[in-house]
Amino acid sequence: MKLTEIEKLRYERQMMIKGWGEDGQRKLKQAKVFVAGAGGLGSSLLYYLTAAGIGTIRVCDFDRVELSNLNRQILHYAERIGMNKAESAKRTLQNINEHVHIEIVKEKIQKNNAKRLIGDSALIIDCLDNFDTRHVLNRIAVEMNKPYVHAGIEGFRGQVTFIHHPQTACLACFIPLKVKKVKFPVVGTTPGIMGTLQAMETIKYITGIGELLKNRLLVFDGLAMEFSFIKLTKNSRCPVCSKSFTL
Ligand SMILES: [Zn+2]
Repeated sequence: MKLTEIEKLRYERQMMIKGWGEDGQRKLKQAKVFVAGAGGLGSSLLYYLTAAGIGTIRVCDFDRVELSNLNRQILHYAERIGMNKAESAKRTLQNINEHVHIEIVKEKIQKNNAKRLIGDSALIIDCLDNFDTRHVLNRIAVEMNKPYVHAGIEGFRGQVTFIHHPQTACLACFIPLKVKKVKFPVVGTTPGIMGTLQAMETIKYITGIGELLKNRLLVFDGLAMEFSFIKLTKNSRCPVCSKSFTL
């Protein structure tokens, strides 16, 4: 897949990065990723993946834009209240980069449809707001051996990690399968930062540059303005990825 002269000009500054070049840019152009959620995390992530020139981005969200989303979900505008979020995301993103193909999926991710929704996407990106759906995606990611970029936020705090079975611990190795769903506080800058970190991991994975957050949980505390890491190890009794467990 060749780059056009216009694309070479558009991506000139990132192609200058050591190890990136036209080859890395072509890899991005060929790539297809699945983004679960076009909310707070999805807002910053999708802006940057679109700007970077990922070839196809499949955005999945069944929810509609609400007034109370607008303090953090910067993909959406007040005039789109009531519109499906994947649809709203596509309208914004098309204005940023017309070279990127944005596919939208308006279905709720569930056990019985997740595999079909992800399809042939090379990477699963978790921009969700609940752990029930995260565990559905994690299970599929383990089953299909697809990389899964997880992030979560609350208030001024966030976490992110790069999961890729069988090389790394999976989500269920360190997060219980049952987590109570609650309405939690959040300031827009937190998903802004964490979604941007997910975009960076995605770009690094596709271009093959740098070290990924494998078996490392990056924890961000915005009040103390600190980043710290927790080492993750595979749980030998994990209900999803342990050898004793059969999918
Ligand atoms: Zn596991």
